[in-house]
Amino acid sequence: MNQLIDNFGRQITYLRLAVTDRCNLRCQYCMPAQGINIVDRKELLTYKEMYRITRVLSELGVNKVRLTGGEPFVRKDFVKFLEMLDFNDLLDEINITTNGALIRKHIKTIERLKIKSINLSIDSLDKKKFADITRRDVFDEVYETLELLEKSNINLKLNVVVQSGINTDELADFVELTKDKNIAVRFIEEMPFNGVGLKEEKDVWDYNKILSEIETKYDNIEKLVDGKSSTSRNFKVNNYTGTFGIIPAFTRTICGDCNRIRITATGIFKNCLFDDGVFNVRDFIRNGASNEDLKKLFLSIVAKKPKDGFVAEKQRNSDVSESMSTIGG
Ligand code: SAM
Ligand code: SF4
Repeated sequence: MNQLIDNFGRQITYLRLAVTDRCNLRCQYCMPAQGINIVDRKELLTYKEMYRITRVLSELGVNKVRLTGGEPFVRKDFVKFLEMLDFNDLLDEINITTNGALIRKHIKTIERLKIKSINLSIDSLDKKKFADITRRDVFDEVYETLELLEKSNINLKLNVVVQSGINTDELADFVELTKDKNIAVRFIEEMPFNGVGLKEEKDVWDYNKILSEIETKYDNIEKLVDGKSSTSRNFKVNNYTGTFGIIPAFTRTICGDCNRIRITATGIFKNCLFDDGVFNVRDFIRNGASNEDLKKLFLSIVAKKPKDGFVAEKQRNSDVSESMSTIGG
């Protein structure tokens, strides 16, 4: 069977699929207050197109899909799409990244599907600060989602974007959540994917600084063994129930084992988060491509996956400034 292997011998087994570019929140690090220019609905991939793309990719060895956006639960019938995707017997795992504000009533349904893990984005444990960051007053809903998911049979990871001078005083509070809760907190380096571009920061909160800050509060941190293509470097405070990790999203020290590709909500294929899109799969499908055509296309594109995020960024036609909501985080 044909497999998706790039010129550096990396096998692609993981698709991140953005189901929409729309969002109910306006996180400061992701988009401007007025939001981004969302595309016309007919430019978004339909669920049938997404199902077909995923199926073809799974026949080429992709066994894990993460659904993201924008906010996936904003799109009408998203849970029905999850049920549809669950039929794909070649997928071992379907995961979701969500801001958690709209999902409480769906948790029971989701628990019955192949949803192994949910990444819940929460950047502050302080209601007022959370509202400042997201520009929306939904902390209570999100925290209730956190508690419900923690009790469910779905693995829960918390995504915390570390924002200089904004939530950097809360890193230990997040680590403390892992004392009794079986969750994986992951601190993410902030990237310039915010609809504006690179910010001037006095303090750069990269992997090393985040870890040093946590080490000032704990002297009993254990390094865990990371899975081969793990996006985070993972740790545990001795005797705590959960774990914490750091995602070097901007310093890009994990590209060597990358097993991921992305498809945006408008069907743009991305070999790397930092490239500016290498092919419009939606138009290819709408122009009549067969599944065999799609397979050939995916094999040829993946072969050209850049060595790392720095090479991908150099090959771009524009600076990194588009919103993560457009790309699919
Ligand atoms: N709306 C969902 C959410 O917030 O979880 C899914 C989409 S969001 C774009 C996916 C992830 O990207 C979130 O965890 C978010 O915090 C992260 N993200 C967005 N903009 C970012 C940026 N500029 N730097 C680092 N992470 C970012
Ligand atoms: Fe929306 Fe997620 Fe971006 Fe926040 S990070 S604005 S929740 S897409």
